[in-house]
Amino acid sequence: MGRRLGQHFLVRASVLERIARAACPEPAPRVIEIGPGKGALTAHLVSRASEVIAIELDEGLALRLRSRFPGITVISGDILTTDLARWGAAVVAGNLPYYITSPVIEKVLVLGPLMTRAVFLIQKEVAQRLVAEPGSRDYGYLTVATMIYARAEYLFTVPPAAFHPPPKVESAVVRLTPHPPPGERPEELLAFAGQCFRQKRKTIRNNLRPGYGPQVDAWPEAGLRAEQLTLEQFAAMYRRLRGVER
Ligand code: SAM
Repeated sequence: MGRRLGQHFLVRASVLERIARAACPEPAPRVIEIGPGKGALTAHLVSRASEVIAIELDEGLALRLRSRFPGITVISGDILTTDLARWGAAVVAGNLPYYITSPVIEKVLVLGPLMTRAVFLIQKEVAQRLVAEPGSRDYGYLTVATMIYARAEYLFTVPPAAFHPPPKVESAVVRLTPHPPPGERPEELLAFAGQCFRQKRKTIRNNLRPGYGPQVDAWPEAGLRAEQLTLEQFAAMYRRLRGVER
């Protein structure tokens, strides 16, 4: 079961402490930990937060966590189907199971200001995508999704040897700090950006024409690809479609 659930446990204490410090630079009222496993990071979070909610899919590990940390709330369940908003504002942290990195990040981003801050250990390659510049190789849908809701920082790289068992790839710690999204309907802007990236190599015209018709032909961005556009350009195209701006 272990590898299937992305169970690569962090064993290097210095990395665990750096993640906990980045998540809670000062004492935090509440932390939601995603994928606590055996509790390696949890042990560093409990001293920094008044309340820790740990969400772990593996029932055996969840049981062990409950007896190791009687003072925390352990939810035995799938992070992707858990309503995170029900706890109110919280710091979110975790050494994420890599097979669901992108959906977890999206889920946490759409919490908006309920996410005080998020600090995640993820694949280095995904971390690079979160902080990529428009026009670069790593820039894509996940970058734009992140920029709509938050400022992303690449904090430091973590080698495979810091885990047991070691993953095949290098990892990195990122921090997401929420900011107000451009416009009032960030979920719709995000869905629109998704359509612009539908086929990455195609132009905006070719990706949007099936859904929006020939009006897009006249746009200044029509001949460009989504990976070349800034967040401001996505927001401007979206406003144009909604008729807020012609
Ligand atoms: N935080 C621990 C550590 O650093 O040692 C474990 C990290 S391990 C990379 C990922 C953890 O997420 C595993 O304990 C795994 O069982 C758990 N997990 C996998 N899929 C999950 C899901 N859908 N929801 C919640 N937890 C999940």
